[in-house]
Amino acid sequence: MEQPQIRTKISELVYSDAFGQNFLVKGWVRTKRGNKHVAFIALNDGSCIHNLQVVADVAAFDEELLRNVTTGACVAVCGKLVPSQGQGQSVELQATSIYLYGKADPDVYPLQKKGHSLEFLREIAHLRPRTQTFGAILRIRHAMAFAIHKYFNDHGFFYLHTPIITASDCEGAGAMFQVTTLNLSEPPRTESGEVDYAQDFFGKPANLTVSGQLEGELGAMALGAIYTFGPTFRAENSNTPRHLSEFWMIEPEMAFYEIQDNMDLAEDFLKFLIAYALEHCADDLAFLEKMYDAELTDRLRFVLDNRFVRLSYTEGVEILLRSGAKFEFPVSWGMDLQSEHERYLVEQHFRCPVILTDYPKEIKAFYMKQNTDGKTVRAMDVLFPKIGEIIGGSQREEDLEVLQRRVEELDLPQKDLWWYLDTRRFGSAPHSGFGLGFERLLLFVTGMVNIRDVIPFPRTPKNADF
Ligand code: ATP
Ligand code: MN
Repeated sequence: MEQPQIRTKISELVYSDAFGQNFLVKGWVRTKRGNKHVAFIALNDGSCIHNLQVVADVAAFDEELLRNVTTGACVAVCGKLVPSQGQGQSVELQATSIYLYGKADPDVYPLQKKGHSLEFLREIAHLRPRTQTFGAILRIRHAMAFAIHKYFNDHGFFYLHTPIITASDCEGAGAMFQVTTLNLSEPPRTESGEVDYAQDFFGKPANLTVSGQLEGELGAMALGAIYTFGPTFRAENSNTPRHLSEFWMIEPEMAFYEIQDNMDLAEDFLKFLIAYALEHCADDLAFLEKMYDAELTDRLRFVLDNRFVRLSYTEGVEILLRSGAKFEFPVSWGMDLQSEHERYLVEQHFRCPVILTDYPKEIKAFYMKQNTDGKTVRAMDVLFPKIGEIIGGSQREEDLEVLQRRVEELDLPQKDLWWYLDTRRFGSAPHSGFGLGFERLLLFVTGMVNIRDVIPFPRTPKNADF
């Protein structure tokens, strides 16, 4: 019989009806079971959640070869596709030849059985992509990244690459990681004894970015509408299920958008992404729903089918005060809302995604457009069930004088912001934007509860290993 030379992905076979034809598949063994006469090998190659059932007639194969086909081993199999007699799959491959690429010693391979805890899998982040759960999550992650680019491309936005290393510490979104090539045990010092950053790599202190927004605004004020999609870094010591030290953020920025347009875009964008996941990741979502979260697709559909409720921070605070609910952090006007408050509004009160606007200026960044009440700014946070804040954004202050006054009030170093202020000096216009945390989106779409489980290699305080 002629052996096929070209490999076929398992995703192309599990729904195939090309019965009687020969195929070559390559992948990793999930399980092997059987008896003296026949071996059933569940093979997965990462292309989809499904395994291909390979059936091997024990007598037709070398005994040692079959003995080494164990969970985790990597093999190539040629065989004939036939309808499956067994339950749980509609096709199987009757093996005619098996080639062993790499063994996986059953005594030491960590992923022997099914049903490892997510905590255990975090400790073996180098192997967890081999599990069904992480295969599903990582494929969904890919699909969402692709959908984000598609959405913006289809809407005339340009992908702008903003810097990862920045010498401005005005981004204001959180504590930063310093980037230096100075010898930390013996840094050069100025006469007054301070570290002499003139001798550092960039000639001044530099950090990893916490947000691409400020540079994104420069792009919007030239190209009209841009988005960034890159890694951001926050050196906060917040060990929560919703915070990473390194995460990916999507930041669209649009000239001529006011806060209403910004909210419309955020809602349409999120709904597009969720619809995309439902359409293109159905098998992976079905697996996650079955294993982890029985309400997953209901929740996704619910967000898709309902208009997001929009109200002001002040109205939100009034609802929380009137609620009589007990919170760990008591509510008062002026405070930064905690996740418990955000989730109360979304899950208990409105039972719907919420966009809160017009926050007190004290708790928001200097660049947000000030309202005429003198107290609030045109911020907008999108709050989601189970997550809390998923998007934070605002209309930006376009008035040079108002912005400069705010910079002075907050005692920010104006000399570092000259380039940013230039956008208001030359051809200023109303503009807006927001930041979507990619992993927060993935928490929502996958139903996972810990943000460490939706990024391949999570970085959190005291953890940058595998
Ligand atoms: P939070 O209040 O939840 O800590 P933030 O207000 O500090 O978030 P922003 O600066 O507004 O966050 O960032 C925009 C978006 O980036 C957030 O809405 C969230 O989706 C995401 N994000 C912020 N910090 C983190 C983090 N440490 N890990 C993962 N995602 C984050
Ligand atoms: Mn925010």
